[in-house]
Amino acid sequence: MAAAKEAKKLGLSYTLLEASEPFSTIINFPKGKPIFTYPKEMTPAGDIKVTAQVKEPLIDEIRAQTADIKPRKSFAEAINRKGKLLEVALRGEEALLARRVIVAIGRSGNFRKLGVPGEELDKVYNRLHDPKDYAGKKCLVVGGGDSAMETAIALTQAGADVTISYRNKEFSRAKPENIEMVLQLTQNPQADVSVQNPVSERITTATGDFMGAPPKAGRLRLLLPSKLKKIEPARVIITTGEKEEEVLDNDIVFAMIGREAPLAFFRRSGIHISGEWNWGRKISLAAMLSVCTFIYHWKKTGIGGFEHIPLLRNIVSIGEVFSRNQWFPYNITAHWQDASTPLAQTLKITLGEPGFYYSLAYCVIIVLFGIKRIKRRETPYVKLQTWTLAAIQIVPLFLLPYIILPWLGHAGVFESGWLKKAADALFPLAGYGQGREYWRSFGFILAWPLFFWNVFTGQPMWTWLAISAVQTFVIIPGIIYFWGKGAYCGWICSCGALAETLGDDHRTKMPHGPKWNKLNMAGQIILAAAFALLIFRILGWMHVGWAEKAFAFLFHDLPVFNYVWFVDLLLAGIIGVGLYFHFSGRMWCRFFCPLAALMHIYARFSRFGIVANKKKCISCNVCTSVCHMGIDIMNFANKGLTMKDPECVRCSACVQSCPTGVLSFGQTDKAGRVIKIDEIPASPVQMAEKS
Ligand SMILES: Cc1cc2nc3c(=O)[nH]c(=O)nc-3n(C[C@H](O)[C@H](O)[C@H](O)COP(=O)(O)OP(=O)(O)OC[C@H]3O[C@@H](n4cnc5c(N)ncnc54)[C@H](O)[C@@H]3O)c2cc1C
Ligand code: SF4
Ligand code: SF4
Repeated sequence: MAAAKEAKKLGLSYTLLEASEPFSTIINFPKGKPIFTYPKEMTPAGDIKVTAQVKEPLIDEIRAQTADIKPRKSFAEAINRKGKLLEVALRGEEALLARRVIVAIGRSGNFRKLGVPGEELDKVYNRLHDPKDYAGKKCLVVGGGDSAMETAIALTQAGADVTISYRNKEFSRAKPENIEMVLQLTQNPQADVSVQNPVSERITTATGDFMGAPPKAGRLRLLLPSKLKKIEPARVIITTGEKEEEVLDNDIVFAMIGREAPLAFFRRSGIHISGEWNWGRKISLAAMLSVCTFIYHWKKTGIGGFEHIPLLRNIVSIGEVFSRNQWFPYNITAHWQDASTPLAQTLKITLGEPGFYYSLAYCVIIVLFGIKRIKRRETPYVKLQTWTLAAIQIVPLFLLPYIILPWLGHAGVFESGWLKKAADALFPLAGYGQGREYWRSFGFILAWPLFFWNVFTGQPMWTWLAISAVQTFVIIPGIIYFWGKGAYCGWICSCGALAETLGDDHRTKMPHGPKWNKLNMAGQIILAAAFALLIFRILGWMHVGWAEKAFAFLFHDLPVFNYVWFVDLLLAGIIGVGLYFHFSGRMWCRFFCPLAALMHIYARFSRFGIVANKKKCISCNVCTSVCHMGIDIMNFANKGLTMKDPECVRCSACVQSCPTGVLSFGQTDKAGRVIKIDEIPASPVQMAEKS
């Protein structure tokens, strides 16, 4: 309706299709239902304004504002491309052609099914129209969201005997006001549960049908957690514990467990539905994993994992094959004879290394997709964060090891004095590549145990050990204390740089929910393996023979599951990047990174949190859906709690995407009081409010 009004105002030719009647969703709300229309500080951009607080006045109000819009009664079946136009197929009518189509069909799909015997009985409803019809009846309400809460409240107040059955131990999805009312009614069904609307006006719900005088109050009881097992004509059977069952006399069941989105419409229109797996998607995932397997084996010569499996021994060393056959990039500088200057000497070697091209591609992708991210999420926070990530990736992680250090080396800078001492300690002489191990400079940025090559060395490299210890055990806990784990994962780390740029389009693909959350602990196992290796390594340096053997076995000799191949190559590289376009860019960071696992421990003591202004939250779930660490941020926001999940990487997507500016980065004291709000603006809504 708002779009149609706007189109009319602009003089566009438009058609508004409506399958049922305008505002049918609202018309189907229970009689006298209170309407939560906050936050009022946010004015909708369109011409339709809403002030009413109860269903009936709301319908009058919006009907009056849209009297000039005449919808056409038609059911849109699908949208398909027809040349430069879009063709809207209509049920039983000729198709319509349009330049642009706005799909605003709501969640008008099918009601979710309970999936229990007896569901088809006449006494099972998905909607409550007039609560008064059920006075004195025994009602079961199944569900824990707002619809279930509001149904139970209305029924209780209309004099019904109500039981709520919900699968979880406590309510978390519903609005706090609704939960509060339900809890009050369980104590005292006659309680005045009028609530204070968050925008300060009082809405009254302690009435029989939300509007009239209450008849004799009913009864409300909660069965949490519980699961409806069977519906019979005069009773219901509910599982309440492992094996315990409760049988309740019952007249009516309200299955208020939500609706399926109208997915069939999108399927018919050929629009991909996130999370759905068809053959095309499976094949594209397999192809992506194969490409990553190739790239990572091509990049790393001499690293197997299958060396101990005779049949596979020869196929793993792709890099070795390329090197022996002088294929790309080994052939690039083969005919470069005259490399007399230090820069030419550097490039002659660097341009023949796969790692150079890998890092170059990494930098280019981060810059290109970083610019895209900055354009999409126009906040100073995203701009600063993206350029910081790109700068770290380009200078210390690419130019320094591949160009600057070798160039200085060929120019003789490391041949005498304290610079020679420093170079000997940090980049020892080597009989390959540039003559010194300049690649160890990755260790300036990438800390142990993410980057372990400077620690797990044949002989202790004392300077690197000192640097790594200060990084991992002093600097990182320090920054986490103030700014959370994201200060490293979202602002410094190269895995984070790729995830926040290339992965930005795919962030909503990260799986959420308790089952996946259990896998969050996988990183702790890898962290334990890293610490075990560290202990064996130190004992090995102290000439403890068995420890040296244990280290070698776990580090590279164990078939397939050795640390180098399994963790560094398979999980961090092949799986981590291979799942980017199907499961988001943070799979490695969330589940497997051992440094992240260590930081989760530090983060328990951090002041950092995402602070929520509960009054503005409309429980739209946008924040949760954009979180590529799988955090259910809405669950904190709509309760006004500070989100302190250690997984958070400070990407700012939730803060930036929240349509009402609920969220802010901040710090809390030990008692949980907010002591600081970040100064770098990260929420466009808050920025607009301030200006
Ligand atoms: C029980 C309940 C309580 C709620 N309480 C609140 C509240 O207190 N405050 C609040 O802000 N929100 C509330 N909501 C949410 C609110 O109703 C929705 O967010 C809002 O109605 C969405 O508006 P919409 O225009 O996107 O979709 P809808 O209002 O659902 O409108 C979609 C329209 O499209 C039509 N349509 C569907 N398919 C087709 C098709 N194929 N062809 C043509 N027409 C079609 C439908 O008939 C419908 O009229 C509640 C929702 C429910 C179910
Ligand atoms: S909670 Fe927000 S800032 Fe933290 S990782 Fe999730 S989306 Fe990013
Ligand atoms: S994005 Fe999250 S915090 Fe913002 S209104 Fe929606 S649910 Fe609430």
